[in-house]
Formats: sequence, structure tokens, C-alpha cells
Amino acid sequence: MTATELDVLDFHNRFTAALPADPDTTNHRRQVEGAAYSRVSPTAVSSPTTVAVAPEVADLLGIPEELWQTEDFAAVFSGSRVPAGADPHAAVYGGHQFGNWAGQLGDGRAIALGEVRDRHGGHQMLQLKGAGPTPYARTADGRAVLRSSLREYLCSEAMAHLGIPTTRALSLVLTGDQVVRDVLYDGNPAPEPGAVVCRVAPSFLRFGTFQLPASRGDVDLLGRLVGYAVRTEAPEVLDRDDADLSHTDRSDADLSEPVPAEAVGRWFHLVCERTATLVADWMRVGFVHGVLNTDNMSTSGLTIDYGPYGWLETFDPAWTPNTTDAATRRYRYGAQPQVAQWNLLQLANALVMLTEDPEPLQGGLEDFADRYHALFATMMAERLGWGSPMEGDSDIVGQLFEVLTSTEVDQVLFFRDLAAVPIDTGGDLGGSGQDLRGRQVSDDDLLDPLQEAFYAPHELTGDVRQGFVTWLRAWGARVTAGGLDDDDRRRRMNELNPRFVLRNYLAQEAIDAVAAGDPSLLHELHDVLRRPYDEQPGKERFAARRPEWARHRVGCSMLSCSS
Ligand code: AMP
Ligand code: MG
Repeated sequence: MTATELDVLDFHNRFTAALPADPDTTNHRRQVEGAAYSRVSPTAVSSPTTVAVAPEVADLLGIPEELWQTEDFAAVFSGSRVPAGADPHAAVYGGHQFGNWAGQLGDGRAIALGEVRDRHGGHQMLQLKGAGPTPYARTADGRAVLRSSLREYLCSEAMAHLGIPTTRALSLVLTGDQVVRDVLYDGNPAPEPGAVVCRVAPSFLRFGTFQLPASRGDVDLLGRLVGYAVRTEAPEVLDRDDADLSHTDRSDADLSEPVPAEAVGRWFHLVCERTATLVADWMRVGFVHGVLNTDNMSTSGLTIDYGPYGWLETFDPAWTPNTTDAATRRYRYGAQPQVAQWNLLQLANALVMLTEDPEPLQGGLEDFADRYHALFATMMAERLGWGSPMEGDSDIVGQLFEVLTSTEVDQVLFFRDLAAVPIDTGGDLGGSGQDLRGRQVSDDDLLDPLQEAFYAPHELTGDVRQGFVTWLRAWGARVTAGGLDDDDRRRRMNELNPRFVLRNYLAQEAIDAVAAGDPSLLHELHDVLRRPYDEQPGKERFAARRPEWARHRVGCSMLSCSS
């Protein structure tokens, strides 16, 4: 084993080549103006050990399996050795936090090594989260703990396998150092194992990347950042003449040339479209981001910055996993579409400096709402086995949300198991009482396949039970009207309603096991989450509804921003 193994990484650093650097290269905390990033080196750790590697991401980057367990891998992806060709830096950005403008934020503990060419010819930024302080660390230590790092590692990969846009994670490395955190901000700081995740994405630009120069009146930097974003994340919005600039034989520096105002408007539209798609996907699988500040929103439409996120267990639009947000529940499940639109409005407010005509920006925001509603309707029609949306669907969907909140229902199990509910061929709300083969469909027959979804089966009596039965017959009538072939319908439903998501308590069990020295549960869970839409015999435990012990446990249902 030589110390140069990870030098196989094929660096091509466009971001640092194209955008202005902070001239100060000392690592002290400061305000940085007129620049997109500061060069900064990661701080070495005591004894790095690799806990997990995501095979698909390693493969994308061309890192052969023989290298995953080497000392050099742990050294490079903990920030202890900088590989050849890297250009380590921290990006500067601002953001609205919980609705208030927070000024400069920036990568306080994430240090990007640079961009690597992937096996498809694309670019992937490698970013070490928890690799030591940067000029943007403010009052914090630049480190990250195992629990938040494992949650980010596992959830990025789970999300990617669900087919939802996200930053990826290459690796989870324990540092061998302790990090002190006050998990619930209640005056009980304690040491925890430190860790570093290597995050991977074509781009880490955030809404706040553009807000910060706008807030400072720096039109020049704003224009260059937008030029860079357009050419690297959204070249399709350029006219053919402008598009020549994104051609590879131009120099990297040209990537940040400003683009015409019309292209800025078209880019904003595209960001709105991507955000609508992203949020519709989150709503489908029951993901609650937890901290949708504008610095945690990506202009390329990726899920980014996994902190106190959670997965809906009981279907409850008011639920948020983030105890730091308990008072107003700003970032609750049901508010995500409106919050995303509010965040887009803040981005538009920044971009307006580059356009004389605000109309295209306004249009983008309006399209966001229309597009989201259309996507939601189509998505629900597909998930419920109806095929294309029809007039009147929103009533049945509204009634569904009512019955789902009449008792505690596991939303993942309900939607998944719905595919197995027999169809009553009656065609009206009462139903004929017969299934497709002409057999009697009793109320019990309708409810049987859904038993696992109920947290309190004893509540399934009287009006609550009748509510479900009535809805299931209306649903069956709508399925019949949709006319899909039965096997095809079930297959399509199962492609959108996952069997496996990263249940909050499962992540916590994996954290406890790794902290006790055993990564096998993490590996098994990661493996299951690679095929979330498949039934996996023998892995039923990972699809089970949340056990009672996890209902109020820290880390399972209560998470804070402490990480
Ligand atoms: P987040 O809540 O993770 O989106 O972080 C908000 C801001 O705080 C970002 O600028 C982070 O880089 C910064 N930050 C969070 N934790 C730390 C830490 N331990 N050290 C330095 N900066 C941090
Ligand atoms: Mg953040």
C-alpha cells in the first residue's frame, strides 16, 4: 500500500477556476466579500477508520473496491491527507434561517476537495463534512458527530435509491476524536464520537449562494455566480450562441461570464420546476427535511444538508422531527410546498438585481404553484392505482387525508399495502359487495391487507372503521373507472409506494450499534435501502411500523439542529 493510492481521483476543479477566490488564505473567522470561496485545508484527525462506503458512489468516481478499506482511503476521506490535484476550499453563502435573514453563513465545517470527473464524463464535487473549521465556522468547532454523520450518509443513499434528487455520500469515516455536543440544548454537553462524511454532488450551490452578494449589492459577483450556475447546472436555458460558452474547449474561467437577463429568467423558471418536482417527491415518500432554510435549498433541485430530518410514521401533516422548530413548526411535513415557494421568492428577490423586468421571476413563482399542484394530482392518481388524474379526484384524496388522520396510520405501510386491497366492482360509494371475480367483498376483506398500518388497531371501530371502509369502496370504484389492468395497476402502485424507507428508529439503532463498535446493522440497513420498492423476504423487520419504545425517544422522534 503506498500513500498515493487515492491519487487515482481525476480532479478538474471548475468551481475554483471560474469564480473569484478570497485572497486571504489564513484560517481565521471573518466576513468575506467579493469572493465565492476561501481556500482552506482540512485538519488531520487522530485515527481515521472507514465505517462504510457506498458502492455505487465509489464506482461513479472510479475508486476500485480494493482501495475502500485502505489506510489511505480513511486518511483522504477524513481530511487527514489531501490527494494530488485537489484544491481544498470552503464556499461562502448566506441564508434566511427560520424566516429571518442571517447574513453570511458559508461552509463552516464542510471542506470541498474539488471536482472529480466521474465515469460518465460529468463532474462531482467531493466535500468532507466535519473536516475542521473554516473562515465560516463562526463560533463552532468545524466538526461533526457520528449520529448526524451516519444519518446523512444513510439518508442520502436511501433517497438516491428511492429515485429522488439528492447529494450523495461516498463514505462514513470515524475520526477517533471526541466531539462535545449538547444534544437537546438543555445544558448537558457530553463527548460523542467524531465522524466525517464525504458528500458528493455535481454542485453544492444554494439559494443563499446568490442571496449573499445580492444583499451586499455586489451585482458583479452575483452575475458571475449565476453565469456559473447556468452553464454548469442548467445549460439548456441558454440560446445557441450563449451555449457555445458551455462548450468544453472554452476555458474554465469563461464558465462564470454573465448571461443575458432572459437566460436568468429562464434559469429561475427551471429552478422552480426542479424544486416543485423535489418537494412532490418528498411528500410522496413522507420525508420531512426539518430545516428548509434558504442555505439548505439547492438550485439544482437536490435534497441537501441532512440534519434533523425525519420520515413520517403516523400520517400527520403537522409533524416535524425538529425540536428546535417545535414552537412554530415552520418546517412541518404539510408546509413544505409553501415553504419551498417562500424560499424561491427570496431567490427571486436576489435575482431581480440582474433583470430590468421582474415579470419572468414572478411568472416562475406562479408556475411553481401550478406545477406543484399538477404534479401532486398526477402522483396521487398513480400511487392510488387510478392511472391518469380525473375530475373529482381531489375530493377522494381529501377524504383519504381525513381518514388517515382519524387514527394513527403508518403512511408507508398504508400506501404500500393498499395495492393488495380487493377491488369492489360496485362502481358507487356503496359498492356491489363483489370483487373482480364476483366474490363477496366484506368490510373485513377490505381492511385485512392494511392491518399492519394501524398503530392503534383497537381504535378501528365505529365511525373510524366505517370511514376507512367507505373510503376504500370509493377508492375501488375509482380504480375501476381508471380501467388499468389489475396486475399492471399493482406493479405501478408498487413503483411509487416504497416498502422500505429510513425509519427514524432504524437509523438510531444503527447509530447505537456503530457507537458500540458493530457496523453490521448499518451495512444491512444500507443494503435493504438499496431496493426500497422491492419486497425483500427475510427483511420484513426493516419495514415494520415504529415500535412503542421509539415513540418519544431522542434521536427517533425528537431531533435537534445539534450535529
Ligand atoms: P446547518 O444548520 O447545518 O445548515 O448549518 C448552518 C450553518 O452553521 C452553516 O454555515 C454551517 O456550516 C454552520 N455549522 C453548523 N455546525 C457547525 C460546526 N460544528 N462547525 C462549524 N460550522 C458549523
Ligand atoms: Mg446548511
